[in-house]
Amino acid sequence: MDALSQFFTVLALLYAVECVRWTPRSTLVLRALAVRNFRRARFSPLFGSPRAGLIWLQPLPPLGTALLVEAWPVAPSPKGLSTREPLELELAQRAPFQAQALAWEHVEQIGVRESAIEVNGREFVRCGSNRAARELAHTLEELAQAREEERAALVRRALSRAFDGGALRARVERFFALTRGLRILCNAQFVVLAVATPVAVYTWGTLWTWAPLAAVLLGLNIAITVKARRAARELTPDCPDELQRLTLSCALSPISALRALDELARPLVADLHPLSAAALAPEPDRAEILRLVAVDALYPRRVEGVAPLALECERWFSAEIVAAAARAGHDLRAAAAPPAPEDAGLWGYCPRCRRQFPVGHEVCFDCTTSIEPLSAAPDAAART
Ligand SMILES: [Zn+2]
Repeated sequence: MDALSQFFTVLALLYAVECVRWTPRSTLVLRALAVRNFRRARFSPLFGSPRAGLIWLQPLPPLGTALLVEAWPVAPSPKGLSTREPLELELAQRAPFQAQALAWEHVEQIGVRESAIEVNGREFVRCGSNRAARELAHTLEELAQAREEERAALVRRALSRAFDGGALRARVERFFALTRGLRILCNAQFVVLAVATPVAVYTWGTLWTWAPLAAVLLGLNIAITVKARRAARELTPDCPDELQRLTLSCALSPISALRALDELARPLVADLHPLSAAALAPEPDRAEILRLVAVDALYPRRVEGVAPLALECERWFSAEIVAAAARAGHDLRAAAAPPAPEDAGLWGYCPRCRRQFPVGHEVCFDCTTSIEPLSAAPDAAART
């Protein structure tokens, strides 16, 4: 392979790296391969760990759109704060999890370091993004400073904000309105880099082509950086770190500038809950997202040796998720309704993996979740 071909191969590899995201498995990714028409994106079956996996973004024009949302990885209650198992969006390998809990009177200071929330100077929990961590830490600070009788109302208010599907749709519409010109520029950059440059260089050589090509790329790069920066200030004014990263990556690399839309969309709805994003998904995906959130809130795993405070936080917060979903117009109990029996001899099913069992089984050993009767879904309140 000659030097020129090696150069273009390296560029292509760099671009491929820009088109994948290493994403926590508890993060819901809605991806549109064109501009709109979102669908749930699945993790790569080839690359990943129990905690995170690869999601690919649309590499070709019109470069698509990807939204990332995750559920709170903590369960606050009026009495304390506990970590919670990440929302299980796919039945992949499960990472080991042990809840840790603190009573509010022992919470002295809450901070954020990148995507981690620190309590009393030590990492307490890791979120899927910097913005999610910042917003959640802000809520936890309010809870820590509030009196015990005020905390329930604060959690309800924060959950209502996170479950607001209307706010999510409004932000996404504003994103599309503010990025029309930027999308055209990014697609032009793609055509210049991936089509015009190789054709010109292989046809006429580098001597006569490098100067005009460099001038076009530089002009596009400056225009993309300016437009992306302006859109980020409008869309996410409370994300200065993300703005700085976006500006630097666009200004320093034409390959990164190509993916400016992804960088802009990354923090756009990161402070909301996957349930709010369900409104954008088509029916099969929407029902599945609802069912996964319902299972998470209604059917806890059977875990030994959990601290009483962690158990109390998890139960109280799960009930609040069901109530907040109802206020947002989602019936989680209906979403987790039992399936029809596959066979007359089957009595129960696992709410997580939906496997069906004959009489005598109490727990699904894959999911460590209690078997529920096929005839009627039990009530969460009765279970807790
Ligand atoms: Zn199961």
